[in-house]
Amino acid sequence: MRIKCPYCGERDSQELSFLGQADLVRPDPDGTDAQQAFHDYVHIRPNPAGVNRELWLHAHGCRSWIIVERNTLTHAISSVEYASPRFREKAQ
Ligand SMILES: [Zn+2]
Repeated sequence: MRIKCPYCGERDSQELSFLGQADLVRPDPDGTDAQQAFHDYVHIRPNPAGVNRELWLHAHGCRSWIIVERNTLTHAISSVEYASPRFREKAQ
C-alpha cells in the first residue's frame, strides 16, 4: 500500500506505523464511570469494514503524525492530512 505523506510525498506504508483510530476521545478521568470508560478506551476498539479515519506516524521519514482516510475493504485512500490542525493550516 502507498500513502502520500503531506510532507514527503508518496511512500510505501512500511515506512509508516499504524496507530489506530484517529478520532478516539480520551475519557474524563473524573467521570462517574471513568474505570469502565478507560477500559473501553484502551481495549475495546471498533473494527469497521469500509471507510475509516486512521492515525499513522511516518516513523521512517519526517515523523509527522497524519490522518489517513482509508477504505479497509479495498485499501483505497481518499484523503491524507496532518493530524495537528497547526500543520494543516501551514500546508494550505
Ligand atoms: Zn513524511
